[in-house]
Amino acid sequence: MKCPSLPLLLALSVLPLLASDPPATQGGKANPFPVGDAGVMTRALQVTTSPAEALQKLKEGNARFLTGRHQEYNYRAQVKATASGQYPFATIVTCMDSRVAAEHVFDLGLGDVFTIRIAGNIVDEEVLGSLEYAHKVAGAKLIVVMGHSHCGAVKGAVDDVVLGNLPQLLARIKPAVQAVPDDGQPRNSHNHAFVDRVARMQVIFGIRTIRERSVVLRELHDSGKIDIVGAFYDLDSGKVEFYRPLAAGKIDKTPPMELPEDLKPAAPAKPAEAHGAEAKHEEKPAPAPAGHGH
Ligand SMILES: [Zn+2]
Repeated sequence: MKCPSLPLLLALSVLPLLASDPPATQGGKANPFPVGDAGVMTRALQVTTSPAEALQKLKEGNARFLTGRHQEYNYRAQVKATASGQYPFATIVTCMDSRVAAEHVFDLGLGDVFTIRIAGNIVDEEVLGSLEYAHKVAGAKLIVVMGHSHCGAVKGAVDDVVLGNLPQLLARIKPAVQAVPDDGQPRNSHNHAFVDRVARMQVIFGIRTIRERSVVLRELHDSGKIDIVGAFYDLDSGKVEFYRPLAAGKIDKTPPMELPEDLKPAAPAKPAEAHGAEAKHEEKPAPAPAGHGH
Protein backbone atom coordinates (compact mmCIF):
# COMPACT_ATOMS: atom_id res chain seq x y z
CA MET A 1 0.00 0.00 0.00
CA LYS A 2 1.38 3.33 -0.98
CA CYS A 3 -0.73 5.72 1.00
CA PRO A 4 0.48 4.91 4.52
CA SER A 5 4.06 5.50 3.52
CA LEU A 6 3.46 8.94 2.08
CA PRO A 7 3.06 10.81 5.37
CA LEU A 8 6.12 9.06 6.66
CA LEU A 9 8.13 10.09 3.65
CA LEU A 10 6.95 13.65 4.00
CA ALA A 11 7.83 13.66 7.66
CA LEU A 12 11.28 12.30 6.92
CA SER A 13 11.87 14.84 4.23
CA VAL A 14 11.15 17.62 6.73
CA LEU A 15 13.24 16.19 9.50
CA PRO A 16 16.65 17.45 8.45
CA LEU A 17 15.31 20.96 8.26
CA LEU A 18 13.67 20.80 11.63
CA ALA A 19 16.66 19.26 13.26
CA SER A 20 18.81 22.21 12.37
CA ASP A 21 17.34 24.79 14.64
CA PRO A 22 17.61 28.00 12.71
CA PRO A 23 17.17 26.68 9.20
CA ALA A 24 18.68 29.79 7.75
CA THR A 25 21.97 29.35 9.55
CA GLN A 26 22.42 25.79 8.51
CA GLY A 27 24.21 26.73 5.39
CA GLY A 28 24.20 23.13 4.30
CA LYS A 29 23.55 22.29 0.73
CA ALA A 30 20.53 20.17 1.69
CA ASN A 31 18.68 23.11 3.13
CA PRO A 32 15.94 23.84 0.62
CA PHE A 33 15.08 27.16 2.22
CA PRO A 34 17.67 29.87 1.86
CA VAL A 35 18.09 32.64 4.39
CA GLY A 36 15.01 34.78 4.66
CA ASP A 37 12.91 32.28 2.85
CA ALA A 38 11.43 30.08 5.54
CA GLY A 39 12.75 32.48 8.16
CA VAL A 40 10.74 31.01 10.98
CA MET A 41 11.13 31.29 14.72
CA THR A 42 13.07 28.42 16.24
CA ARG A 43 13.67 27.37 19.80
CA ALA A 44 17.15 28.84 19.69
CA LEU A 45 15.84 32.14 18.37
CA GLN A 46 13.06 32.28 20.91
CA VAL A 47 15.37 31.58 23.85
CA THR A 48 17.77 34.31 22.82
CA THR A 49 15.09 36.89 22.08
CA SER A 50 14.56 39.31 24.97
CA PRO A 51 11.19 40.92 25.67
CA ALA A 52 12.65 44.22 24.45
CA GLU A 53 13.81 42.62 21.22
CA ALA A 54 10.39 41.08 20.77
CA LEU A 55 8.85 44.53 21.03
CA GLN A 56 11.39 45.88 18.59
CA LYS A 57 10.47 43.18 16.08
CA LEU A 58 6.85 44.29 16.24
CA LYS A 59 7.79 47.93 15.83
CA GLU A 60 9.88 47.12 12.81
CA GLY A 61 7.13 44.95 11.37
CA ASN A 62 4.60 47.75 11.69
CA ALA A 63 7.07 50.13 10.08
CA ARG A 64 7.34 47.77 7.10
CA PHE A 65 3.56 47.53 6.99
CA LEU A 66 3.28 51.31 6.92
CA THR A 67 5.82 51.77 4.18
CA GLY A 68 4.60 48.87 2.07
CA ARG A 69 8.00 47.20 2.25
CA HIS A 70 6.65 43.85 3.29
CA GLN A 71 8.85 40.93 3.98
CA GLU A 72 8.42 38.28 1.35
CA TYR A 73 7.36 35.15 3.10
CA ASN A 74 7.40 31.74 1.52
CA TYR A 75 4.41 30.35 3.35
CA ARG A 76 4.78 26.89 1.88
CA ALA A 77 8.28 26.74 3.23
CA GLN A 78 7.12 28.12 6.54
CA VAL A 79 4.41 25.49 6.84
CA LYS A 80 7.05 22.81 6.57
CA ALA A 81 9.52 24.55 8.79
CA THR A 82 7.01 25.05 11.59
CA ALA A 83 5.19 21.73 11.41
CA SER A 84 7.01 20.05 14.26
CA GLY A 85 6.83 22.87 16.78
CA GLN A 86 6.20 26.55 17.39
CA TYR A 87 8.39 29.09 19.16
CA PRO A 88 6.53 32.40 18.93
CA PHE A 89 8.18 35.46 20.42
CA ALA A 90 5.00 37.28 21.46
CA THR A 91 1.28 37.09 22.00
CA ILE A 92 -1.02 39.75 20.63
CA VAL A 93 -4.38 40.08 22.34
CA THR A 94 -6.54 42.18 20.10
CA CYS A 95 -10.01 42.75 18.75
CA MET A 96 -11.82 40.53 16.28
CA ASP A 97 -12.19 43.52 13.96
CA SER A 98 -11.44 42.35 10.44
CA ARG A 99 -9.12 45.29 9.90
CA VAL A 100 -6.91 44.56 12.88
CA ALA A 101 -5.16 41.40 11.75
CA ALA A 102 -1.99 41.22 13.81
CA GLU A 103 0.04 39.16 11.37
CA HIS A 104 -0.55 41.74 8.66
CA VAL A 105 -0.22 44.81 10.81
CA PHE A 106 3.14 43.59 12.12
CA ASP A 107 4.21 41.95 8.86
CA LEU A 108 4.75 38.55 10.40
CA GLY A 109 5.04 35.02 9.15
CA LEU A 110 3.78 31.68 10.38
CA GLY A 111 4.85 30.74 13.86
CA ASP A 112 5.98 34.24 14.83
CA VAL A 113 3.27 35.17 17.32
CA PHE A 114 0.23 33.84 19.09
CA THR A 115 -2.83 35.93 18.36
CA ILE A 116 -5.88 36.00 20.59
CA ARG A 117 -8.71 37.89 19.01
CA ILE A 118 -11.99 38.68 20.68
CA ALA A 119 -14.36 41.63 20.43
CA GLY A 120 -13.05 44.54 22.46
CA ASN A 121 -9.85 42.63 23.26
CA ILE A 122 -11.37 41.61 26.54
CA VAL A 123 -9.22 39.58 28.88
CA ASP A 124 -11.28 36.89 30.54
CA GLU A 125 -10.45 33.52 32.05
CA GLU A 126 -10.11 31.79 28.73
CA VAL A 127 -7.79 34.46 27.46
CA LEU A 128 -5.76 34.27 30.66
CA GLY A 129 -5.44 30.52 30.31
CA SER A 130 -4.31 30.94 26.73
CA LEU A 131 -1.73 33.51 27.78
CA GLU A 132 -0.44 31.31 30.58
CA TYR A 133 0.13 28.54 28.10
CA ALA A 134 1.76 30.86 25.58
CA HIS A 135 4.22 32.29 28.08
CA LYS A 136 4.79 29.73 30.78
CA VAL A 137 4.73 26.66 28.58
CA ALA A 138 5.47 27.82 25.04
CA GLY A 139 8.03 30.44 26.02
CA ALA A 140 6.81 33.59 24.30
CA LYS A 141 8.43 36.78 25.63
CA LEU A 142 6.02 39.63 25.18
CA ILE A 143 2.31 40.21 25.70
CA VAL A 144 0.73 43.00 23.72
CA VAL A 145 -2.83 44.03 24.51
CA MET A 146 -3.91 46.03 21.50
CA GLY A 147 -7.02 48.12 21.13
CA HIS A 148 -7.92 50.12 18.08
CA SER A 149 -9.70 53.23 16.94
CA HIS A 150 -13.40 53.20 15.99
CA CYS A 151 -13.87 49.92 17.83
CA GLY A 152 -17.36 48.52 17.27
CA ALA A 153 -17.33 46.56 20.49
CA VAL A 154 -16.50 49.68 22.45
CA LYS A 155 -19.27 51.54 20.64
CA GLY A 156 -21.65 48.78 21.62
CA ALA A 157 -20.63 49.02 25.26
CA VAL A 158 -20.88 52.78 25.23
CA ASP A 159 -24.39 52.65 23.75
CA ASP A 160 -25.55 49.69 25.87
CA VAL A 161 -26.48 47.60 22.87
CA VAL A 162 -28.80 44.72 23.71
CA LEU A 163 -28.67 41.70 21.41
CA GLY A 164 -28.49 38.01 22.21
CA ASN A 165 -25.32 37.27 24.18
CA LEU A 166 -23.75 40.62 23.49
CA PRO A 167 -24.57 42.25 26.83
CA GLN A 168 -22.42 39.73 28.72
CA LEU A 169 -19.53 40.51 26.46
CA LEU A 170 -20.04 44.25 26.52
CA ALA A 171 -20.19 44.14 30.31
CA ARG A 172 -16.48 43.34 30.16
CA ILE A 173 -15.89 46.71 28.55
CA LYS A 174 -18.13 48.69 30.87
CA PRO A 175 -15.51 49.28 33.57
CA ALA A 176 -13.36 51.01 30.96
CA VAL A 177 -16.30 53.13 29.85
CA GLN A 178 -16.93 54.24 33.39
CA ALA A 179 -13.27 54.90 34.11
CA VAL A 180 -12.91 57.50 31.39
CA PRO A 181 -13.27 60.87 33.10
CA ASP A 182 -16.30 62.95 32.23
CA ASP A 183 -15.23 65.96 30.20
CA GLY A 184 -18.71 67.24 29.57
CA GLN A 185 -18.83 65.83 26.07
CA PRO A 186 -21.36 63.21 24.96
CA ARG A 187 -20.57 59.73 26.17
CA ASN A 188 -21.94 57.81 23.22
CA SER A 189 -20.71 56.23 20.02
CA HIS A 190 -21.14 59.43 18.06
CA ASN A 191 -18.30 60.95 20.02
CA HIS A 192 -15.32 59.33 18.32
CA ALA A 193 -12.82 60.82 20.71
CA PHE A 194 -14.67 59.31 23.63
CA VAL A 195 -14.89 55.92 21.93
CA ASP A 196 -11.14 55.93 21.37
CA ARG A 197 -10.41 56.96 24.93
CA VAL A 198 -12.51 54.06 26.16
CA ALA A 199 -10.65 51.74 23.81
CA ARG A 200 -7.35 52.90 25.26
CA MET A 201 -8.66 52.50 28.76
CA GLN A 202 -9.82 49.00 27.87
CA VAL A 203 -6.21 48.16 27.05
CA ILE A 204 -5.16 49.30 30.50
CA PHE A 205 -7.85 47.19 32.10
CA GLY A 206 -6.72 44.24 30.02
CA ILE A 207 -3.16 44.55 31.25
CA ARG A 208 -4.34 45.07 34.75
CA THR A 209 -6.53 41.98 34.59
CA ILE A 210 -3.58 39.95 33.39
CA ARG A 211 -1.52 41.05 36.36
CA GLU A 212 -4.29 40.81 38.92
CA ARG A 213 -5.81 37.53 37.94
CA SER A 214 -2.87 35.47 36.79
CA VAL A 215 -0.20 34.70 39.34
CA VAL A 216 1.68 32.83 36.65
CA LEU A 217 1.89 35.82 34.34
CA ARG A 218 2.50 38.33 37.08
CA GLU A 219 5.49 36.36 38.28
CA LEU A 220 6.87 36.07 34.78
CA HIS A 221 6.40 39.81 34.37
CA ASP A 222 7.90 40.82 37.69
CA SER A 223 10.90 38.60 37.12
CA GLY A 224 11.51 40.22 33.76
CA LYS A 225 11.07 37.01 31.82
CA ILE A 226 8.23 38.57 29.89
CA ASP A 227 7.04 42.08 29.28
CA ILE A 228 3.47 43.31 28.94
CA VAL A 229 2.73 46.41 26.92
CA GLY A 230 -0.31 48.17 25.56
CA ALA A 231 -0.83 49.13 21.96
CA PHE A 232 -3.34 51.08 19.95
CA TYR A 233 -3.95 50.53 16.28
CA ASP A 234 -5.10 53.48 14.22
CA LEU A 235 -7.50 52.26 11.56
CA ASP A 236 -6.98 55.41 9.54
CA SER A 237 -3.22 55.21 9.24
CA GLY A 238 -2.31 51.59 9.96
CA LYS A 239 0.08 52.76 12.64
CA VAL A 240 0.49 51.00 15.94
CA GLU A 241 1.33 53.12 18.94
CA PHE A 242 2.84 51.21 21.83
CA TYR A 243 2.58 52.33 25.37
CA ARG A 244 3.20 51.12 28.84
CA PRO A 245 0.39 52.23 31.12
CA LEU A 246 2.50 51.93 34.22
CA ALA A 247 5.67 50.25 35.28
CA ALA A 248 5.28 46.67 36.41
CA GLY A 249 3.95 46.43 39.90
CA LYS A 250 2.47 49.90 39.98
CA ILE A 251 -0.42 49.19 37.70
CA ASP A 252 -1.88 46.90 40.34
CA LYS A 253 -2.02 49.60 42.95
CA THR A 254 -3.00 52.66 41.01
CA PRO A 255 -6.36 53.79 39.71
CA PRO A 256 -6.77 53.50 35.99
CA MET A 257 -4.83 56.22 34.32
CA GLU A 258 -5.52 58.09 31.17
CA LEU A 259 -2.85 57.65 28.55
CA PRO A 260 -0.07 57.80 27.99
CA GLU A 261 1.61 57.22 31.28
CA ASP A 262 4.47 55.42 29.67
CA LEU A 263 7.24 54.96 32.15
CA LYS A 264 6.58 58.01 34.19
CA PRO A 265 6.26 57.31 37.90
CA ALA A 266 2.70 56.71 38.91
CA ALA A 267 0.75 59.57 40.39
CA PRO A 268 0.38 59.27 44.14
CA ALA A 269 -1.73 56.19 44.46
CA LYS A 270 -5.11 56.57 45.95
CA PRO A 271 -6.28 53.29 47.39
CA ALA A 272 -8.27 51.48 44.78
CA GLU A 273 -8.73 47.77 44.75
CA ALA A 274 -11.67 47.39 42.47
CA HIS A 275 -11.52 48.32 38.87
CA GLY A 276 -12.09 51.99 38.72
CA ALA A 277 -15.75 52.06 37.84
CA GLU A 278 -17.29 54.97 39.66
CA ALA A 279 -14.04 55.41 41.53
CA LYS A 280 -12.02 58.55 41.56
CA HIS A 281 -11.83 60.29 38.29
CA GLU A 282 -8.45 61.62 37.54
CA GLU A 283 -7.87 65.25 36.87
CA LYS A 284 -8.29 66.31 33.30
CA PRO A 285 -6.00 64.02 31.37
CA ALA A 286 -3.66 65.38 28.83
CA PRO A 287 -4.74 64.34 25.37
CA ALA A 288 -2.76 61.39 24.21
CA PRO A 289 0.04 62.61 22.00
CA ALA A 290 0.06 60.80 18.74
CA GLY A 291 2.80 58.57 17.54
CA HIS A 292 4.96 57.53 20.36
CA GLY A 293 7.42 55.02 19.09
CA HIS A 294 6.14 53.36 16.04
ZN1 LIG B 1 -12.85 46.37 17.91
